[in-house]
Amino acid sequence: MQQTIGLIGGMSWESTAIYYKEINEIVRQRRGGLASADILLRSVNFEDIVVLQKAEQWEQAATYLASIGRQLADAGAGCIVICTNTMHLVADTVAADIGVPLIHIIDVTGAALIAARVKQPLLLATRYTMEQPFYCDRLRQRFGLSPIIPDEDDRSRIHNVIFDELCCGAVSDQSRQAFVDIIARGRARGADAVILGCTEIGLLIGPEHTEVPVFDSTKLHARAAADFAEGKLSADAVLG
Ligand code: GLU
Repeated sequence: MQQTIGLIGGMSWESTAIYYKEINEIVRQRRGGLASADILLRSVNFEDIVVLQKAEQWEQAATYLASIGRQLADAGAGCIVICTNTMHLVADTVAADIGVPLIHIIDVTGAALIAARVKQPLLLATRYTMEQPFYCDRLRQRFGLSPIIPDEDDRSRIHNVIFDELCCGAVSDQSRQAFVDIIARGRARGADAVILGCTEIGLLIGPEHTEVPVFDSTKLHARAAADFAEGKLSADAVLG
């Protein structure tokens, strides 16, 4: 019997669709036939979240996401997956409030980096994720990693591509080339891997666009959710 996976999605729905497909594909590969994942999905209005992000009203965001997490848990979810890196800024608060494990995207990604013996990953993400301490500090403190973030101009470009293009369903060759160039600058500074630390970036670039190993947080997080549902996830990757 699989456990039910509770997805808090819609941030943006472009990437939540990838979670849904990835998790179901993993379950089909493993179980065969007509098997699919047991999922509860609550997809929020991303506009409401962006208003809170811009106003830095993180406590309100935490309260909102925790209330959704509790609803999903009450409806039968055995774990909660917040389908965005940025909103893991409030993951600890949410995890403390939902009564079921929260599968933490930074821990899942950190564990994959360690398993691959990476030391200095380049982080591509929203400004919040690249600039606020919650992400890089956790990689340093829990995994002993030394993440590198792009310079100011590149951070600005990445952030704008995420919100103005990828979250709106627009994927362009020009932006792809910009990301490839940013990765090249990261490599010149010693990066030995790239973290796609925003759940939409996999729409734009993948391992085929660079020689450095690519760690796509969406795919790693989706796999961890599928593992959890089958009782195969190590306790390290789960909070709460
Ligand atoms: N999905 C993105 C992320 O993984 C950005 C959207 C958001 O700000 O939540 O960070």
